[in-house]
Amino acid sequence: MSFAGNGIGITRGIAIGEAHILQRGMLEITPRSIEQPEIPFEIERFRDAVCCARDRLQSVRQKIPESTRSDIVAFIDTHLLMLNDAALIQAPIDLIKQHAYAAEWALQLQKEALVQVFDTMDDPYLRTRKDDVEHVVNQIQKALHEQGEETDGDLTGKVILAQDLTPADTIVMRHQGITAFITEFGGPMSHTAILARSLGIPAVVGVHSITRLLRQGEVLVVDGEHGVVLADVDRRTLDHYRRHIHTAADQATQRLSLIGKPATTKEGVRVSLMANIELPEDIESTRVLKADAVGLYRTEFLYMNRQGMPDEEEHYRTYRKVIEGLDGIPITIRTLDLGADKQVDGCTAASCNPALGLRAIRLCLKEPKIFQPQIRAILRAAIHGPVRIMIPMLSNLQEVRKLKAIIAETKRQLAEEGLPYADHIPIGGMIEVPAAALSADAFSKELDFLSIGTNDLIQYTLAIDRVDDEVNYLYDPLHPAILRLIQTVIEAGKAADIPVSMCGEMAGDPRYIPLLVGMGLREFSMQPGSLLIAKECLFSLSAEKLSKQTRKLMKKLGSSKHERLLDKICRLH
Ligand code: PEP
Ligand code: MG
Repeated sequence: MSFAGNGIGITRGIAIGEAHILQRGMLEITPRSIEQPEIPFEIERFRDAVCCARDRLQSVRQKIPESTRSDIVAFIDTHLLMLNDAALIQAPIDLIKQHAYAAEWALQLQKEALVQVFDTMDDPYLRTRKDDVEHVVNQIQKALHEQGEETDGDLTGKVILAQDLTPADTIVMRHQGITAFITEFGGPMSHTAILARSLGIPAVVGVHSITRLLRQGEVLVVDGEHGVVLADVDRRTLDHYRRHIHTAADQATQRLSLIGKPATTKEGVRVSLMANIELPEDIESTRVLKADAVGLYRTEFLYMNRQGMPDEEEHYRTYRKVIEGLDGIPITIRTLDLGADKQVDGCTAASCNPALGLRAIRLCLKEPKIFQPQIRAILRAAIHGPVRIMIPMLSNLQEVRKLKAIIAETKRQLAEEGLPYADHIPIGGMIEVPAAALSADAFSKELDFLSIGTNDLIQYTLAIDRVDDEVNYLYDPLHPAILRLIQTVIEAGKAADIPVSMCGEMAGDPRYIPLLVGMGLREFSMQPGSLLIAKECLFSLSAEKLSKQTRKLMKKLGSSKHERLLDKICRLH
């Protein structure tokens, strides 16, 4: 057996499967000509590659279930249409004919010409369409590259190795049946990582050079919890991991008996366990697992991988479907959190430092044409079930006041138009910027609830980009500064008598739940797959005991006793 790599484990769970190395983005295309008599053959080779790229896309499209969001399907449809476009397909054929270029080089030249045209466009939305050109060209280049080699179109049961994966890649490959993935870059709080957890895909990110170190087809063990990748594994080790997989599956089956039982601590303190949702399958699991509520509905996924912006009707239809699908389970809809790691074509300005730039509520307040349709749609959809609105990335009270004014004005307009809407919707804010955490008392006076977004709070407090694996070693939810900020927010909510929840990844991690219970947190929102694990953990805890120990810890933060006290609390479950 050999140890193939160590990275950041982002999903609980182990997987065993054959390596499938994604070549995408790694092909180097150099100028190459062919002999005149080879031209017809070269054109045929190019046409075959286009057919192959088309077949692959069509087969992915067919595997996406009906219920899956239309934006992913639309993304694939756009690429399928481009595979029929003369500018992309006929032009390289002409280049092959006229200059006897190899197919790869002809395609590369045409891509460069198209990208240049897009670059000169004034419309920022059209400018970003060049990403689609790049994507489709990569698919054809890949097919050209694989001609004559054994291709591996079927990804069922495969462990994907790639430099990096986008959230859309992750969803599409899940539908293709992959068993795990490993990437060279990326962080545990990136949206690809959050999605992988939500889809239950064991994954390890930040394993540098892994795509060059391993061979296509070799059997790998991926330990998504400890961030370990093993290759060349002997039978005994394989058996060990297989037993582990079976035990985990048995435990998961046993946990199903917890469905419907109220989440409480040992002494009966009620804790609310809520779900973070974004994909259609999350709605189903939230309902089946009987979450107390949806504490975070990420709506920006409605904007990704598509052409154009969703209009009010699309927003409305989507939210109504989600609300009705939840069958009475209350939902907190987060307004758009676009920008930074959630980029959307054509709708965010280029920023030198996107995480600190025009994102989330900042962008929404600046661009009413993006924000208005969403607010109107939420207000209208909220007549179909219990809804709360939550604002991401607040940093000052003006933002809250402006948002409230927009909501009031929107209600006035809807009334004028005679459209039904919900009049009393609680408005809450995400506390994910240190300034907001330190001013949580002021925010508590103007908002109906607070939710702590630790993914960003940790990023901004510790000054570590959440998608940059180089600074991942600094990622520490237990850093004294983070604990103080969390405590401040919980206390502020208590003083103002408003609910405080946590919806960052920390809330669903059993390593931190005892400490958070000790701090007085009573509402946890997490990806649906963690709900029963968290419930099981809560049953074993004493809130009273934890509260005493946590008070002691908070007084000793940073002292020599800090680590020992922390250990004691975290080991309690
Ligand atoms: C967070 O920042 O903790 C959060 C829940 O929001 P997101 O991960 O979507 O930025
Ligand atoms: Mg956030």
